[in-house]
Amino acid sequence: MAYAPVLTDDQIDRIRAFAKPRSVVADEILYNPDDDTPPVYLVLTGRIRIIAIVGGEEQLVTTYGPGQFSGELLMIAGRRSIYRCQAAEPGELLQLNAKDLRTLIGKDAELSDIFMNAFLARRLSLKDAGHGNVVILGSRYSANTLALREFLTRDGHPFKYLDLDADPLAQNLLDQFRIGLEDVPVVICNNAQILRNPSPREVAECLGFNRNIDDSQVRDIVVVGAGPAGLAASVYAASEGLDVLVIEKGAPGGQAGSSSKIENYLGFPTGLSGHDLAARAIAQSEKFGAQIMVARKVVKMNCNQRPYRLWLDDGQEIAARSIVLATGAQYNKPAIPKLDAFNGRGIYYNATFMEAQTCSGEPVVVIGGGNSAGQAVVFLSQNSSEVHMLVRSASLAETMSRYLIQRIEANPHIHLHYESELTDLVGAGHLERISWLDRASGKTIVQPIRHVFVMTGASPETPWLKGCAAVDGKGFIVTGPELASVKAPIPWPLSRQPYMLETSLPGVFVVGDARSGNVKRVASAVGEGSIVVHMVHQVLAGA
Ligand SMILES: Cc1cc2nc3c(=O)[nH]c(=O)nc-3n(C[C@H](O)[C@H](O)[C@H](O)COP(=O)(O)OP(=O)(O)OC[C@H]3O[C@@H](n4cnc5c(N)ncnc54)[C@H](O)[C@@H]3O)c2cc1C
Repeated sequence: MAYAPVLTDDQIDRIRAFAKPRSVVADEILYNPDDDTPPVYLVLTGRIRIIAIVGGEEQLVTTYGPGQFSGELLMIAGRRSIYRCQAAEPGELLQLNAKDLRTLIGKDAELSDIFMNAFLARRLSLKDAGHGNVVILGSRYSANTLALREFLTRDGHPFKYLDLDADPLAQNLLDQFRIGLEDVPVVICNNAQILRNPSPREVAECLGFNRNIDDSQVRDIVVVGAGPAGLAASVYAASEGLDVLVIEKGAPGGQAGSSSKIENYLGFPTGLSGHDLAARAIAQSEKFGAQIMVARKVVKMNCNQRPYRLWLDDGQEIAARSIVLATGAQYNKPAIPKLDAFNGRGIYYNATFMEAQTCSGEPVVVIGGGNSAGQAVVFLSQNSSEVHMLVRSASLAETMSRYLIQRIEANPHIHLHYESELTDLVGAGHLERISWLDRASGKTIVQPIRHVFVMTGASPETPWLKGCAAVDGKGFIVTGPELASVKAPIPWPLSRQPYMLETSLPGVFVVGDARSGNVKRVASAVGEGSIVVHMVHQVLAGA
């Protein structure tokens, strides 16, 4: 079984050099939930149990016997334990601390595969079983509930979810503790702490996600943003021996993390979900020793002195010899309630072959008046029964290429609605019905349309770099040769020219969607994140 392999004598012998022997008696506790980065235990004789403690009650998760080992992804990530590990009978074990485990998997390719496969498989099965140290009592109608569930899901942290609208026991529990509706969602963390309507950051703090990250040391490289570009940079930098810290304002994955299926990423002919891509990239970068700080936003940068300093939203400061900005772009979203709830279930931000298949033969709506919206409308009209295009302005002339306007106007399947704005989305699970306001007539139109394409552009979140790095007219960060055509806030101080992905600040790079001129694709973000490390090496070597 992938998640409970039995190691051979030869494999065990190779582990001995990195591990300490430990004798245990029956029922001896090896670690408890909330203990700092517990070791991995390899059983030589006897048995050990993994126990989840939910609501004060013990639940057996699994048992390991001779040749098998405990542990899952948190041992690599350096996070706190979720479970109790206890000897089921007297025996002999090998104890492998987190640092020694990383050294071992860095040196032994076969054991690295065995440990990583087992850790990934265990994390997935724990998530599916809902075995964890977190319970969320929430409502399907609450945006904060969804935000917390998304945060923990994207982070890959197992949790139990009790829906107050469907589970009377959960409601009873809230009544007993006098917890009002305004406190929902309620999070029970480590069976001890009750958090009322917490932010993802408060949950991350309660679970100690960032506790082992030392903010006092100057890092070789700090990566801001853990989308595909930032994760690629961290994998390559850590695998090449650099000391890497990634700072992510939410959970890792970026925009790609919300894509249900990426079909155009090289090597995955049947596609893979953005979540799977991110989960693998996180495990890969942590395997090489990168640290990922989650639910922390970089809000300011001190660019007047080296090493550079980044300020986080909680006031924490991080110093870095080089910085890779991988902050991506956030799709401009219309302010409509429940928009995120229908993400991928009626609301789409891309119009590719994949989405077109999903709504084949059905009517669709495209929102936006730019070229991306125009291309989407023309493309979708080939497969959909009819396409409604909602445009805020009274004309397309200023925002769209002429050839697209002509195609749209000539196509009988396309219905243009000027001065129109989406106002409401309705559906249980999948989107079923939408409303929009025709501002010219003042009428609200309601249609049973199940697919809406939001093509209102993307903006980078770069105002915090003001006064430090040069950006283009839309806020995307300018790099390399393109710097010659913009005015940098601080003059370039070196005799050498900036590297291809270097910003107007020496040693500060930008990769992925946040970069001016970048092609907004997963593969391009990953490519830039991978090659930037070569330039970082040059800077660190003083070139
Ligand atoms: C729904 C959807 C589906 C898509 N499908 C495809 C597809 O099928 N194929 C394809 O090629 N492309 C697709 N894309 C586009 C693709 O996802 C992006 O081009 C890619 O994710 C860009 O990667 P990135 O790392 O540059 O930025 P992002 O993915 O945007 O990641 C940036 C990260 O930085 C974090 N961040 C931002 N500011 C800060 C800060 N100040 N401090 C800390 N963290 C910060 C963000 O939270 C985010 O996690 C899709 C996009 C979406 C939204």
